Amino acid sequence: MALVEHWIGGGFTAGTSGRRGPVFNPATGRQQHEVALGGAAEVDAAVSAATEAFEQWGQASLSRRTKVLFAFRELVNANIGRLAEIVSDEHGKVLSDAAGEVQRGLEVIEFACGIPQLLKGSFSDQASTGVDVFGFREPLGVCAGITPFNFPAMVPMWMHPVAIACGNTFVLKPSERDPSVSGLVASLWQQAGLPDGVFNVVHGDKAAVDAILGHPGVAAVSFVGSTPIARYIHERATATGKRVQALGGAKNHAVIMPDADLSFAAAQLSAAAFGSAGERCMAISAAVAVGPAAEALMPVLAQQAATVVVGPGRDPRSEMGPVVTAGAKQRIEGLIDSGESQGAKVLVDGRGLRVAGHEDGFFVGPTVLDQVRPEMAVYTEEIFGPVLSVVRAAGVDEAIALINSNPYGNGTAIFTGSGAAARRFQREVHVGMIGINVPIPVPMAYYSFGGWKDSLFGAHHIHGPEGVAFYTRGKVVTSRWPAQQSMSDASLHFPTAT
Ligand code: NAD
Repeated sequence: MALVEHWIGGGFTAGTSGRRGPVFNPATGRQQHEVALGGAAEVDAAVSAATEAFEQWGQASLSRRTKVLFAFRELVNANIGRLAEIVSDEHGKVLSDAAGEVQRGLEVIEFACGIPQLLKGSFSDQASTGVDVFGFREPLGVCAGITPFNFPAMVPMWMHPVAIACGNTFVLKPSERDPSVSGLVASLWQQAGLPDGVFNVVHGDKAAVDAILGHPGVAAVSFVGSTPIARYIHERATATGKRVQALGGAKNHAVIMPDADLSFAAAQLSAAAFGSAGERCMAISAAVAVGPAAEALMPVLAQQAATVVVGPGRDPRSEMGPVVTAGAKQRIEGLIDSGESQGAKVLVDGRGLRVAGHEDGFFVGPTVLDQVRPEMAVYTEEIFGPVLSVVRAAGVDEAIALINSNPYGNGTAIFTGSGAAARRFQREVHVGMIGINVPIPVPMAYYSFGGWKDSLFGAHHIHGPEGVAFYTRGKVVTSRWPAQQSMSDASLHFPTAT
């Protein structure tokens, strides 16, 4: 069985830990690869390679860095199909969706191609008599990224193009469930002319993560994954003096107002709940039907859900693939059971779905639960599967209160025909990313992506301007050239402008 290897210092290596993990094809339910699981030795080798590479790369001109970024952009663009196939085979999502995730990652690379503009400093001429002040930003050193299974290409691309464009070197610890795409990305960086050691990949699980968090050579950690691990990463990395941004889980609500175009809303909700089998941090998992909206919405929504074509990701007829592991399937079906036993009405039931020719695949069909109440586990838990829970609310006040009482604050949306309702919603919800008649409001790469509350720990959102700020630190220079003026202003009192 092929081994998925680490990429350290410009080449593949099996490492020395000897530990291995299985990588499945979720559509067949069969193991297809083994992945090397690194530990302290592999992380140390990668950090050493990245530290050595930083000596040169941290000094590389903006022009040189930009040329590498543009070449990398071209290579990723030329390889979208291959990258998407690898993602689909290990994650399970349909090919068009996998290509979409690479496309969104590509947009971050395009943003990073503008690094000379993004890193322009500031200059104040004659801040004091004969004195100029200027500010600019420098890279941090070795940065690490720890990423989830659900976007194995895009989420790492939220990080490494920006970090590397800023002059840092990078160690990526991808999800061990779908690790292979990171090896291809590493070789594309190399083909683009990135010096060896600037981008490294260490595969692994908690052992590799803990080695990163404890390594004194790592300056900053970017994490994306579930909330309990995000909280742990934030606490551990902060305790060891690292800069950290840790993006966590979500429970994204969509509010459907009675004045919305309900057939438009139903189609959008279905796509946002069941695309990628609901395994998106911006998936809509709770629909809040306001007042009379529910009665008209539910039949259309049920019909939309029931007609989603579920099948293997490689079949172009499939609209939705399997979930990632047998464990995920069991957990999701268990939560649907619990919702039913707690009184939710199962309007469309995806449990026990069998896909012809793929009977052992990890498939769960689209599921719609109506009459869900906030105390039910299907509402409180992040299901991370193709399950849409519909909650009823009497009015917009109740809908906003429901969202604001949720511990997560990643994304939310409102469907309405009223500008006043939309504006009130955008101002009053405690959530980082908001859609108005847009169900999955993932910001473009030139804005930053990030949630509030338990969906993000740390001060910076990811990519966009906040990504550049995260991967650099400011320096301010106050300068004068004494030959140009007399030194007579020397004084022991605190310097003030003259
Ligand atoms: P996860 O938290 O299980 O894993 C994320 C990373 O942490 C992986 O690299 C994994 O190897 C590592 N990890 C897992 N357990 C660990 C432990 N005990 N100690 C140290 N490291 C550990 O998340 P996942 O299941 O891969 O991904 C799904 C989750 O990610 C969902 O909660 C989803 O909402 C979230 N997510 C959030 C965003 C966002 O932008 N906020 C984006 C994508 C996914």
